[in-house]
Amino acid sequence: MTDRQARDVPLDAHLHTHLSPDSQVRVDTFAAQAVGLGIPEIAITDHVDFEPGAPAYRYVSFADRERSVREAAERWAERGVAIRFGAEITWDSRWAEDIRDHLRHHAYDFTIGSVHVYRGSPYEAASVGGWVAGRSLPEVMEPYFSEVEQAIRSGLFDAIGHLDVVKRYLAPHVTAADLAGAPELYEPLLAALVDGGTALEINTSGLRQEAKEIYPPAHIVGRFRELGGERITIGSDAHRADTFAWALDDGYRVAAAAGFEALAFRRGAGPVVVPMATAPNALAGRSL
Ligand SMILES: [Zn+2]
Ligand SMILES: [Zn+2]
Repeated sequence: MTDRQARDVPLDAHLHTHLSPDSQVRVDTFAAQAVGLGIPEIAITDHVDFEPGAPAYRYVSFADRERSVREAAERWAERGVAIRFGAEITWDSRWAEDIRDHLRHHAYDFTIGSVHVYRGSPYEAASVGGWVAGRSLPEVMEPYFSEVEQAIRSGLFDAIGHLDVVKRYLAPHVTAADLAGAPELYEPLLAALVDGGTALEINTSGLRQEAKEIYPPAHIVGRFRELGGERITIGSDAHRADTFAWALDDGYRVAAAAGFEALAFRRGAGPVVVPMATAPNALAGRSL
């Protein structure tokens, strides 16, 4: 897998460590790779779930996550990598008030809001075939995309993670080509992102999963830009050491082709601009 780890890009904004239930990687492992690959900044975005019984429900306390990440940040600051304390919060409209309350009382450097496919979802393996049968593509997509739109409209997150990761679970019943033929299904999501100034995440994990395509694909990133989108982040969503920064250069190329010259990231205060071209001052950032 390491064959596609990117070098010399400014940021990997989506990473999971042992502080998530589905990763064993130490923060130091990602940090050491960042130094080796010439990546000056990383965001640790471990899972936080609010539905009792979901994988990351009360998995590690906020205090323990914050301490682990901030202590690592201190260890690595002088060695050429800035480590930010983030979270990937599973959006579920049933738990909107709990999520809002959590974010009101806990300070992260950077937050991603993502809709996940968990037990009980029509997209889980045991159900998806039956869900797709006899339904139109808009009907198939509706539960996922309507939750994503609500996540965006909540205004709670800096970025929205893997906008169309559901295609991973829909394969082979619905293909990336099927979705490419229905770009209008993405329009309400892109409009909501533009309206609220929330960043669209370019998530390269899709290239190593069933969909074999970035979440979301290049033409959707291009459309987001056309609609006036100004804020993007890029992340590998690595859960293993060998997928750190994996195919991130593809993500940066997609962003550049869409006309973006910078990422919109947050480091605890307001959002900052991070130029996409690696430059000595890339860490400086400007206020956005
Ligand atoms: Zn996710
Ligand atoms: Zn993730």
